[in-house]
Amino acid sequence: MDSGRRWTRNDGGPGTTVDPEHPAAACCGRNWMTEGLPVPHNRRMTSTGPPGRRLTLIFDADDTLWENNALFERVVEDYLDWLAHPTMDRTELRSIVDDVEAANIADNGYGAKAFLRNLAITFEKLSSRTATAEEVRQIENLAEALLHHDIELMPGVVEVLEQLRARHDLYLLTKGAPDEQRRKIDASGLACYFSEIHVVPEKDEAVYRALAVRHHLDREVTWMIGNSPKSDILPARAAGLNAVFIPHRLTWVLERAEIDHTDEKVLVLDSFSGLLDHF
Ligand SMILES: [Mg+2]
Repeated sequence: MDSGRRWTRNDGGPGTTVDPEHPAAACCGRNWMTEGLPVPHNRRMTSTGPPGRRLTLIFDADDTLWENNALFERVVEDYLDWLAHPTMDRTELRSIVDDVEAANIADNGYGAKAFLRNLAITFEKLSSRTATAEEVRQIENLAEALLHHDIELMPGVVEVLEQLRARHDLYLLTKGAPDEQRRKIDASGLACYFSEIHVVPEKDEAVYRALAVRHHLDREVTWMIGNSPKSDILPARAAGLNAVFIPHRLTWVLERAEIDHTDEKVLVLDSFSGLLDHF
């Protein structure tokens, strides 16, 4: 493991250092699964600064470096099958699941365990009774894969990070349950590409400002790279950072938001590999 690397968990702002219990996997010598999905094309050329200037690149993880929401979507489909609701159609049921998830983010946070709780809450809301132990177990079985799945990297991620780390300073900023995010990062084998890794409960403007202060970042030459307008693009821009938006067609509904397409400090790419054309 790189001696300078730290796992940091944010319980209010970047800065809490947590030593990793699980050493990061090696960054080489591994066969990666690189199946990916096409995403909408909306390329725009934006200046990233003078050629040769060292930049700071902060990467989102879920649905930017690896597939994530696709797994949750599969579980939702299985859950709707399992519900077999007598009167409501799938669209109506899905809307209720989304509402329950939105209402419980503050209490349950993000990640698979929070998702499981939300599915049980949805069941109880629909059935107007408490879920039995057997029903809870069945819901947990539906989502078992979320806790132990293999990591499926986006196409080109290893090659791109390998080149970018030679030219720029790379950080990882991901939100969610620390144990779940740590497991995915370890399983990805990507930890060694980043100077520091931050797992935070929420990615808002204050977190980006705190990150900039912690690492003495020059915001003019710092870029947040991710798939979520709500968590990656808008709060980073509000904190004065530049942003690279790489849309993913399965981005979670609660992560979607309108971005300002006239904002010249937001670069929109159709693939992760497109980063090499700009940085
Ligand atoms: Mg993401």
